[in-house]
Order: sequence, then C-alpha cells, then structure tokens
Amino acid sequence: MNYKVLYRKYRPNSFKEVVDRDNIVEILKQSIINNKTAHAYIFTGVRGTGKTSLAKIFAKTINCLDIQEGEPCNKCENCLAFETSPDIIEIDAASNNGVDEMRELVSNSRLVPSSLQYKVYIIDEVHMLSSSAYNALLKTLEEPVSHVKFILATTEIHKVPLTILSRCQRFDFFKISTEKITEHLVNVSKKEKIKIDKKVLKEIAELSDGSLRDALGILDQLSNNEEKVELEDLEKTFSYISSDKIDLLLKVIEEGNINLFLEEINNLIKIGTDVNMLINKMINKLKEEIYGLLRSNNLKIEYNKDLILLLIESQKSIKSTTNPYLLIEINILSFILEKQGNKLTKKEEMSTKVYIKKEEDSANVNKVNIDKDENIEQKTKNKVEQEKEPIEKEENIKDYNLELKKVRINNCFAGASKEIKNEMVSHWKEFIDNLQDSNAQLFSMTEHSKVEAASKKYLIVSAPVNGAIKLLVDQTEEIEKAFKTFSGTKIKLCFLTDTEWEIEKNEYIDNIKNNIKYIEVEEPKTPKKNQKAADMAIDLFGEDSIDIR
Ligand SMILES: [Zn+2]
Repeated sequence: MNYKVLYRKYRPNSFKEVVDRDNIVEILKQSIINNKTAHAYIFTGVRGTGKTSLAKIFAKTINCLDIQEGEPCNKCENCLAFETSPDIIEIDAASNNGVDEMRELVSNSRLVPSSLQYKVYIIDEVHMLSSSAYNALLKTLEEPVSHVKFILATTEIHKVPLTILSRCQRFDFFKISTEKITEHLVNVSKKEKIKIDKKVLKEIAELSDGSLRDALGILDQLSNNEEKVELEDLEKTFSYISSDKIDLLLKVIEEGNINLFLEEINNLIKIGTDVNMLINKMINKLKEEIYGLLRSNNLKIEYNKDLILLLIESQKSIKSTTNPYLLIEINILSFILEKQGNKLTKKEEMSTKVYIKKEEDSANVNKVNIDKDENIEQKTKNKVEQEKEPIEKEENIKDYNLELKKVRINNCFAGASKEIKNEMVSHWKEFIDNLQDSNAQLFSMTEHSKVEAASKKYLIVSAPVNGAIKLLVDQTEEIEKAFKTFSGTKIKLCFLTDTEWEIEKNEYIDNIKNNIKYIEVEEPKTPKKNQKAADMAIDLFGEDSIDIR
C-alpha cells in the first residue's frame, strides 16, 4: 500500500516549509545563527506534529556548509549527502530498546564524524528505552562531546526520566491547527491534481486531529483513483461523521424530531462511527455556537449548555457500557422529551400572558416598569450601594432590550401579513441599496439582512452573523430614522439572528396552530441609562426641554 507516499513527497526540506511550528522554528534558527545550539534536545508531542521532520532539518542545517539565515542551502555537498550520511543516526527506540544497542551508541558517539561537522543522533520514541539503556544514554548526556548532538523525540514525555529531561532543551509540539492542515492539503491536492473540494479537505484535517502525517495519509488513500473525492468517500472509508451530519443531527434534536433522530443515529451505527468522536464533535459544535451567541440569544445558550452537560455525562457512562449507542440514544431521547415538556409549559404561560395583557390593558406593563424604576432610584440614593450601580444599570438595559425584543416580535406577529411582507421586502432592498451611497457604515451592517416578517408598524429583520446583530440592535434607532428619511414611513425594527428567527417562527407557527392569538401590547419604557446626565440637564434647562432616551 502506497499509504505514505504523499507524506514522504511533501516532507519539508527547510525550516520555512514546516507547517504551523513558527515558534519552535524561530528559536532553532536563531540558535543556529548565533551559534548557540544545545547539546541535546527533546521534542515532545502527539504523532504527526513535525518532531522528526524538524529534527532532520535541524541536523541538516547545523552541518550545512552555506547556512542562509538559519536555513539549509540544500545545495552544498553536506546537504546533498545528508540523507545517506553515516553521521546522521536515526534510532527507533521502540525497536531498539536493548541496553546493548545503547552501549554501542554511546561508544560510537565518541568517535569523530566521518564526513559531516556534527554527528546527530535522532532517537524516536525515546520513552521506550529500558532503564539500563537510559543509564547508558544519560552517561553521554552528562559528558557532552562537542561534535555530537542528540535529538530525542517522544509522544509520552511523562515516561522519560527527569535525569534525561533535565539535560535536554525541551520543545512541545502541539497539534497542528485544522486551518494550517487544510491550507497544506489544498496546496498538495493542487500540485497532485487531485479532484477534491476544500470543504472535504477541511473535514480530512478535522479527522486527522492535528497530525499532518495522518491528514496526508488519508488524502493519499482517498485519491487512489482518478475520480473526484467526495465527502461520502471520507465518511464511508474512515467511518467518519462530517460537520454537515453533526449540524443535521443537532437540528433534528432541537426540533424534537424523534423519528429523524433515530434514523440518523442508525445510519451512524451502520457505518460504524465512533461514539466518542460523535459526542466530541457535537460538543464542539454546540460550544462554537455558544461563543457566537454570547451577547444575543439567551434561550439558545441555555439550551446548548444543557445539551453539552448531557453529552459530557453520557461520555462518562459510556466507558462502563457494552452498548454505547443505546445509551446515547436513550439519553438524547429523554432530553428531547424533557425539552418538549418545557416548551409546552412555556406555551401555556404565553397564552395566559397574552390574555392577561388583553384584560388588564397596558397600564399593567407600565406599572411593572414604574416599580423597577423606583427600585433603582432607591438604590441610587443608598450610598453603600453606589459602587454596584453601573452593573445594575447595565443589567437593566439588557433586560430592557430583551423585553423590547419580545414585545416587538409579539407586536409584529399581531399585525403581520404576507402582502405587507412582500411589499417591505422590496422597500428594504431599495433602502439598503440607497444606504450604499448615503451611509456606508449602516450599509455594511445591513447589507446581508433580510426581512422575515412585517406588519404596518413593525419589521422583523434577520442577519446571518451574530456580531452583526449586536451592531444592528445598537443602531436600531439610527436605522429607523434613516428608513423614515428614505421611505417616509415610520417603522419599528427588531433584529434577530437567523437562529433566533427560526425559533421565533416555529413558536409562532405552534401558537397559531393552537389558536393562540397575538395582541399588540405597549412597548416597555426606555431604561434611564442617562438618568444622571438627564437630571443635571433638567436642573439646568427644565423638564420640558429634555427627551430622555
Ligand atoms: Zn547546505
């Protein structure tokens, strides 16, 4: 099997070709430039992270006759003879763990190099040495010879005795980033004319889990014939679960679609997907989503957090079960049912809320706000509490924004129609086109936004990026003003992320099905975020002139 052909072919020949090891490369190069190389090094890290490749480049460079800013020339006789030179000794401790081999190594190391300047011993998997072999090695490390260098490499540094470690300069090789591996795979497949999409290469990079060697091995195996490599090939050959599949699975769980969930799980069992890989990928995806949502969607963050905790718990119990898939299946099913139960309760609450609002009218909404305001005033008066004040106010603004969002969604749904939406979709597009010339900043924020629902007074607009939503929410008034100037229509805007909109839309559909009616309610009063300044202004100019926003 020509499994490692690509890996050999694209092995780096100089420091600059090494992928994603900038820090280590820089230190090694500087030590070569300043002629301050150590007697012994130990490279530690998981497989395929460049330990042996870097060891070889280092060994070649220190022997190069024409070093160029710390890089080997790859042209001089030493560079050319490097691969076959008897002065570069590679030992795989996994197969040479006997003390005799190590004694031989020790005595040979004292002989001068046959042709190169330095004799370099590269000892791979050094943690496999027996204790007497360690002692033999320790002896040479304790009495360094100027023409000899040692580079020890290990995947399990904790097994290497401290006496050895303390005599070596240590470098930690972390996993290579998915981005860097993808980049490298893109280059290699271009050069090799392999037909494959970048998306699939990214999945290969993910599967290789930080090992460039494994990534190239996988690419090698998949590209055996002339045909285009598809995501499906990767999934089948390596029992791999792609990000698309993870997205689908999470969506099905969130929607509570039990049948589809079971179907997807069965497919995964069929192709033999590793359950730990599945759980880890789900957790990572949920975690990523939380980072993206940090300032916007509280409900979704809560949901993701609950699911992550469930998955972590499941992962723990998997170790003690013979049927891990059954366990995860049952756990997720109970999770879905539990969430559905919660949703029902929420729906009931909402229907009551709407009717209360109807009966007790908007005075009730105002009352709640007045209570809150009094509370804050009291706290402001209390000097002991004063330090806490900014936090309280910020919380207050956050609550207000959340409340305003809820009310605006409710009010928009209360008066929404398809006709108005269609009309607003074209208005909104014209508005954005116009912003391109009139307000570049607002244009860049609204460029990818989309009208999702519209009533005569309200507009729900979604945007794909969470960061953009934060900006849009902050600029709501500004955008409303610009829209009024452009179209002559006063409209109240509510900005949501795509995901938030999906949730709201589904809830709306559920509610309509259950005959729950939406009734327009009064918007909450703006929090007194600038109360101090406003108070001062009122003192100076009188209440009439100040419009507290
Ligand atoms: Zn050279």
